[in-house]
Amino acid sequence: MKRENAWKNYSDEELVELEELARSYKEFISSNKTERECATAAIALAEAKGYRPLEQAIAEGRALKAGDKVWSHTRGKAIVLVHIGTEPLEKGFNILGAHIDSPRLDLKQNPLYETEDLALLDTHYYGGIKKYQWVTLPLALHGVVVKTDGTVVPVVIGEDPDDPVFCVTDLLPHLGREQMSKKASEVVAAEALDVLCGSRPLIIEDDDDDDDGKDGAADDAPEWKKRAKKDPVAAFALKLLEGKYGIVEEDFLSAEIEVVPAGRARDLGFDRSMVIGYGQDDRVCAYTSLLAQLAIETPGRTAVCVLVDKEEIGSVGATGMESLFFENTIAEVMELTGAGGMLKLHRALAASKMLSSDVSAAFDPGYAGQFETKNAAFLGRGLVFNKFTGARGKSSSNDATAEFVARMRRVMDEAGVAFQLSEMGKVDAGGGGTIAFIPARYNMDVIDSGVPVLSMHAPWEVTSKADIYEARKGYEAFLLDD
Ligand code: MN
Ligand code: MN
Repeated sequence: MKRENAWKNYSDEELVELEELARSYKEFISSNKTERECATAAIALAEAKGYRPLEQAIAEGRALKAGDKVWSHTRGKAIVLVHIGTEPLEKGFNILGAHIDSPRLDLKQNPLYETEDLALLDTHYYGGIKKYQWVTLPLALHGVVVKTDGTVVPVVIGEDPDDPVFCVTDLLPHLGREQMSKKASEVVAAEALDVLCGSRPLIIEDDDDDDDGKDGAADDAPEWKKRAKKDPVAAFALKLLEGKYGIVEEDFLSAEIEVVPAGRARDLGFDRSMVIGYGQDDRVCAYTSLLAQLAIETPGRTAVCVLVDKEEIGSVGATGMESLFFENTIAEVMELTGAGGMLKLHRALAASKMLSSDVSAAFDPGYAGQFETKNAAFLGRGLVFNKFTGARGKSSSNDATAEFVARMRRVMDEAGVAFQLSEMGKVDAGGGGTIAFIPARYNMDVIDSGVPVLSMHAPWEVTSKADIYEARKGYEAFLLDD
């Protein structure tokens, strides 16, 4: 039951479409490297396609009808898009779900320190990373600093070719005898992931700038000036941050700054058949789901696209899939269509179908021993469906019914979508989970699907343009299924 390579069957027109999709995808993941940036960009794309804020419809008490399109977000980190269909909402929705958070290093709340004329930013990693992969790469800072007056200051440093970048240093091999004998999980300790951010001391000609008779900066002098004597390099960094962003060191307390690989996603291979880029888990599924949601004309069943945060750390919190944000948003939409009330809401959710989309582990010839090739996902063989996920005997998995798998086979076959079924690696080699089990609690049909990825969770991940193209087509076919 080997699945065919999707590249074998493309027409010239399809290859043009595939390249155009790859181009816009590379642009999206190059410009949007945090969950906030992805949510903001997705809302802008939705607005351009006629989506309007749900909050506005609620405030105006405006009824929603077939063809109406609304978006909602929570805390700028998770969004729901709804395109009202012609069928009654109680008959259920076709839902595309994916996540927009990715593994990374986060700055600690008190990150800046100086030692031996070097200034560093301390981090706490987010999600499942191999720590040794994050050293010696050019890194960028993305995020927000929120001041006590509520002002949100966006920060992006390291993406413009003229920007400086940052990095975590590594020990030279000449002195690495002890380090190289350690286990890979210990080669680079979490607390060693400190980001080098300066080496030039601030010079203050005369820091006795008041007339209180005491040496040192005046009490009301800027923080960086007071710190210049003890930590002149850190002080220089603080002075630059205050000058450019108007932020002071205490503002790090209420900041979310993510340290991510600097630079753009690019074509990979002589044949340019692949994309190498940061954060493809799971923005490759999020972006293709979003495009499918935005592409369709008024559907029969109401179409929903939910892009969530916090999947990499267990889907927790107000912005993760476990949050009631999704259910509450659907409840608000149903109320405005005249189908309000708890019972109708839960009937609708139970009658819904969902593709919970997340990346799959692609077969890697360098690590062939971890895969069972009859049931592995392969680059270039199309959209992946995982009947189940989990680990150690399918533990913690959602398990889609055979009936629902059959339905998805039919939908994909009828739409000419290349697809493959897989499970993650050999039995007991490891495992993983996604958001699928959470919406499944509404008693709806949910199946894991997605795009195969090489080097998943590494700073630079690899996908096939063919799989991205097939995912985009498959998601649209799913939304239009009756
Ligand atoms: Mn994922
Ligand atoms: Mn992941």
